[in-house]
Amino acid sequence: LFRSDHSLVEQKRYEQQVVSDFETALRERQFQIYLQPQISSQEGLQGAEVLVRWVHPEKGLIPPMDFIGILEKTGLISRLDANVWEQSAELLQRWEGTEKEKLYLSINLSAKDFYYLDVYETVTALVEKYGIDPGKLRLEITESVLMSDVDKLLAITRKLHQYGFFIEIDDFGKGYSSLSMLKDIDADVLKIDMEFLHETEHEEKSRIILGSIIDMSKKLGMSVITEGVETKVQMEHLQALGCDMFQGYYFAKPMPVSDFESKYF
Ligand code: C2E
Ligand code: CA
Ligand code: CA
Repeated sequence: LFRSDHSLVEQKRYEQQVVSDFETALRERQFQIYLQPQISSQEGLQGAEVLVRWVHPEKGLIPPMDFIGILEKTGLISRLDANVWEQSAELLQRWEGTEKEKLYLSINLSAKDFYYLDVYETVTALVEKYGIDPGKLRLEITESVLMSDVDKLLAITRKLHQYGFFIEIDDFGKGYSSLSMLKDIDADVLKIDMEFLHETEHEEKSRIILGSIIDMSKKLGMSVITEGVETKVQMEHLQALGCDMFQGYYFAKPMPVSDFESKYF
């Protein structure tokens, strides 16, 4: 009892530490963007997902898992996300006029962002400030974003889509995927997590479902990206099912922007 109690106290203390370090971290640019390539087996590198890392002066590199949840609980996530999105827009601008200008960046949106921020206003302001093509800033939203206040959120995503942003449905198949959601949302890309195949003994069934999801997406006019691809065999299976876009350790782990630039250009 003492120990579990103790670890709860520890957890609480850790959370408070994150919250109290946050402002300084933001000001001192400790939140850095890492990029993980999104690759077409036909045409090579197409873009990258932007994944944040906290480069803490004492604790070193902190993965998102250790702070995103805490920032979501406290609403601070919207301040972080607005910062990450701005770094991404800045980078797209820096790439303009270079051979990297054809690449897009996919940024992550948290459900809480829609409560604490005017998401539409924030991202369109970034597009204008940096003079970038909204189609190059892809917005990854998970289905959980649509769990509450569906109508409001569908209206916002529709407006974003009309403005020219690409909408990606993140983590499809991971949680409570709802097929009816697919009929209501204006999405361009369905992003399927490989866990879909990992987490089951019924591999054959998963494959049938996955194949059907891929077919359905195409018929609905959406493209499909599979993420979490770790082996060549996985990639080949997915190709056989009709998926041509991939993201995963098999190709590359998320890396600092400068590494990404020197690796691919
Ligand atoms: P996510 O959006 O699903 O991002 C994909 C995660 O899978 C990343 O973890 C990535 O490093 C990891 N991954 C990529 N390829 C592989 C693979 O082949 N195998 C395995 N096992 N994992 C792979 P990461 O970077 O630790 O991020 C974790 C989560 O944190 C993200 O999941 C996303 O939900 C959240 N996150 C990251 N950056 C941001 C951000 O800027 N804003 C918000 N709101 N959330 C973020
Ligand atoms: Ca994502
Ligand atoms: Ca994902």
